[in-house]
Amino acid sequence: MGMVRLLVSRVGAWAPSLGRRLFSHGEGSGVRVRFGPSPTGFLHLGGLRTALYNYIFAKKHGGRFVLRIEDTDQSRLVPGAAEGIEDILQWAGIPPDESPRRGGPCGPYQQSERLDLYLKAAETLVKRNAAYYCFCTPSRLELLKKEALRMRQTPKYDNRCRHLTSNQIQERLAQGCPHVIRFCLEEGTVTFEDLVYGLNRMEPAHVEGDPVIIKADGFPTYHLANVVDDHHMNISHVLRGTEWLTSTAKHVLMYRALGWKPPIFAHLPLLLNKSGSKLSKRQSDLFIQNFSQSGYLPEALLDIVTNCGSGFSGNRFGRTLEEMVSEFNVTRITTHSALLDHDKLPEFNRIHLLHRIENSSLRQQLVMELQALVEKVYKEELLEGQALCTDYMERVLLHRKGHITSLLDLVKPAHSYLWIRPHVAWEQMEELTTDGEKICSMVISLYQNWPSDNGTLAELNSELRSLQTRFTTTKYSVMMKLLRLALSGQQHGPSVAEMMLSLGTKEVCERLQRMIIH
Ligand code: GLU
Repeated sequence: MGMVRLLVSRVGAWAPSLGRRLFSHGEGSGVRVRFGPSPTGFLHLGGLRTALYNYIFAKKHGGRFVLRIEDTDQSRLVPGAAEGIEDILQWAGIPPDESPRRGGPCGPYQQSERLDLYLKAAETLVKRNAAYYCFCTPSRLELLKKEALRMRQTPKYDNRCRHLTSNQIQERLAQGCPHVIRFCLEEGTVTFEDLVYGLNRMEPAHVEGDPVIIKADGFPTYHLANVVDDHHMNISHVLRGTEWLTSTAKHVLMYRALGWKPPIFAHLPLLLNKSGSKLSKRQSDLFIQNFSQSGYLPEALLDIVTNCGSGFSGNRFGRTLEEMVSEFNVTRITTHSALLDHDKLPEFNRIHLLHRIENSSLRQQLVMELQALVEKVYKEELLEGQALCTDYMERVLLHRKGHITSLLDLVKPAHSYLWIRPHVAWEQMEELTTDGEKICSMVISLYQNWPSDNGTLAELNSELRSLQTRFTTTKYSVMMKLLRLALSGQQHGPSVAEMMLSLGTKEVCERLQRMIIH
């Protein structure tokens, strides 16, 4: 690894004014980008960031966003993962224009269905002496590795099969000897420009042996497959994680050997946990599926990944996707590692939830989600009739907006009073004041005549205040405690007036009446 670092030099961070071209042809002409996840599990925040930046880049330049499933490592496939990734992109509001599910002019979009293309490219390379058959056995490779480690060197293949004669090769092929195909890494310095990391000079042949491009099972390795696909899918820009930056030199050599023009590269800086540790693909607290099940909205997740990274003139949350598209500039991406700050997520979610509640068509969707949640959590305990009715749900949402960070908050015990009647013992009320009965019946009379359009919080508050003045022995704060207890069975929570407006006349009167006829 140290060796890799030594041989990679970056000639300063590129500044757009130095003339690095964002497009190889005209501005935005034929922009095509791709997101190429391996279906080895759930999509996580790192993957979502790559997908999002590709999506934004495509939309910004009137291009196409392609989803390509990179499933060439058959041993690591997880059933359902590819479908799950496409579902999540849809959920996040960044669906691909072309994908396995949607199809498109450059399909199939699943690498396991494109094997002939990789084999054809490998054959071309072999014919041009840029690739060769390798018959080295796993035990020989293991021995080489052990030997290198013993000598404190970076293990690398010694390119032995490069030197086999064509007779030797034919003979071994005829004998059916297991083999792979390796790409001949040209000696020397490879130079390429990256929109984020600037000019890179690398000497891949110094760092590693000739890489395998077709494995013993006939499948390509990632390196060949991504070059072949990016070429055949007319990909104009490759935006991917910086972990692929060192491999890019190898890819550039492959493009050259195949006589193809490479795309323009833009590597995204490392995404780290807030503590500075690396994100792990297995870190379940990063899985998008888990966030969505915990009530997080896609907008909040997109905020998290754009606010820790760069590409925008500054950090700000609450951007809509359209705003992201208009404010994004790939040349503003910096090489600093981006730290994911999960702690901001609830606050981001609160704000986006508030926006959704305020938007009447988005609110309808929330109403349905809340109905399903309440039904699931409270089942047969539900308040008859009222609890699941749409108007009621809407009222609750409008009153609680800005106070809740997720819809799930509304089915937690603190909000149970919205769905089930509380059990309150008369003794609890008596402990507060001896005016309990009187207060309850006066509030009933007040609320029975409350305007059917529900009035406002301020109006109800002021009515409650003036009602309290009739009691010399019960302070306002005590009266509120008593009413809160009667209505919700709790000592804390939303204001009494809000509870009353949410619950509605019939339910409020029922609950207070129960306190009178204890
Ligand atoms: N399949 C690679 C991954 O899982 C994609 C790398 C690339 O975008 O070239 O990250």
